[in-house]
Amino acid sequence: MKLQTRAIVGSRGNEHGAIVPPLFLSSTFETDPADTDAAYMYQRVANPTRTVLESLLAQLEGAEYGFAFATGMAATAAVFAHLESGDHVLVAASVYGGTHRYASEVFARQGVAVDFVSDLAALTDADFTDRTCMVFVETPTNPTLRVVDIAHLAALAHRHGALFVVDNTFMTPVLQRPLELGADVVVQSATKFLGGHSDLLAGVITTNDPALAEQYTAAQKTWGAVLDPQTALRLVQCVKTLPLRLAQQQRNAEALVRYFSEHPAVATLMYPGWYSAEERDIHARQADGIGAVLSLELAEGVDWMAWVRSLQIAAFAVSLGDVATLVCHPASSTHEDMDDAALAAAGLSRQLLRVAVGIEDVDDLIEDFSRAFEVAASTPAPESAPAPDSAPTNRHDPEDSHAR
Ligand SMILES: *Cc1c(COP(=O)(O)O)cnc(C)c1O
Repeated sequence: MKLQTRAIVGSRGNEHGAIVPPLFLSSTFETDPADTDAAYMYQRVANPTRTVLESLLAQLEGAEYGFAFATGMAATAAVFAHLESGDHVLVAASVYGGTHRYASEVFARQGVAVDFVSDLAALTDADFTDRTCMVFVETPTNPTLRVVDIAHLAALAHRHGALFVVDNTFMTPVLQRPLELGADVVVQSATKFLGGHSDLLAGVITTNDPALAEQYTAAQKTWGAVLDPQTALRLVQCVKTLPLRLAQQQRNAEALVRYFSEHPAVATLMYPGWYSAEERDIHARQADGIGAVLSLELAEGVDWMAWVRSLQIAAFAVSLGDVATLVCHPASSTHEDMDDAALAAAGLSRQLLRVAVGIEDVDDLIEDFSRAFEVAASTPAPESAPAPDSAPTNRHDPEDSHAR
């Protein structure tokens, strides 16, 4: 069966033939006193509605095992939960802020050594130690949409006996299936494209490895950050339209690439493959399209704040994957605690905006962006604007600055 069909029929099969799976709210289940191994005893361990979702997500990915967590970060934390003191982990420097914070703050307390890798294409055998047990990456990266070679890195990690983990949130299994390319584990924030409507938080792990599956079962049972059955059912319903939504989002994104690439107010346009011919080839090999996240660096003198304030259709908001187009400014939100040097090292400027493309009619989006460019161009570049290092920094708790 093709993926769109699996998305529809993958959640069926209940005893009454209901097209929508039943919602089991029960936290506890009556069991035979002699049966200590019942499939359902207590909701944290397993719940039939969650099982339907987990099986559906595994089927989309072509995986044996799927696990649903309360958030994407809970899924990532479950992947890290079995690391031990003395272990060494290689983490892409550009990973999601929450993952970066876990690796830079929690690993130290766990006694886990970490190296952040800024150029994964340059990773060699010399970067591995005899305690390296995991390599964790995202492709494409956020927000500069750089591409990482999944099959190449999986082979490199495996040569050193390390697990290769991919956060596949930006592509989803519709566009990219890392397990088929050699990854051992895929994590995703289902809050983004899988949910697709900005009305739920959820996370997913998928794997084909039975020993890892046991670890994630234990993580659900012992760490306890599982997905509740109501949200699990809502996510089942959302996943049915994921391929359709993403197809429309990607069509819109492709049209916007054509539009932005010719617009004089855009200095650099970023989408998977933009960086080099090599990355374009890698992405074409491992994914079925550019997805629906673009980043634009506005030309000098174009006032980004005037531009986003003038948008009437696209919303200024963090997050991505929604049916609504969302625009965010990484330097003042997701990457707010980086100084100018750190931003430059990450290839990120204060003129950079990320556009997470929705399913609106793309002609309306282009008109919206164009109108806003006219306003931004006629707004004199703010000579009197605060210099970056005197910009207010107390708007958010810095501890929380990677939370989005
Ligand atoms: C949002 C996001 C996460 C975290 O997911 P939550 O559901 O917000 O916890 C992890 N990875 C990526 C790439 C994300 O975009």
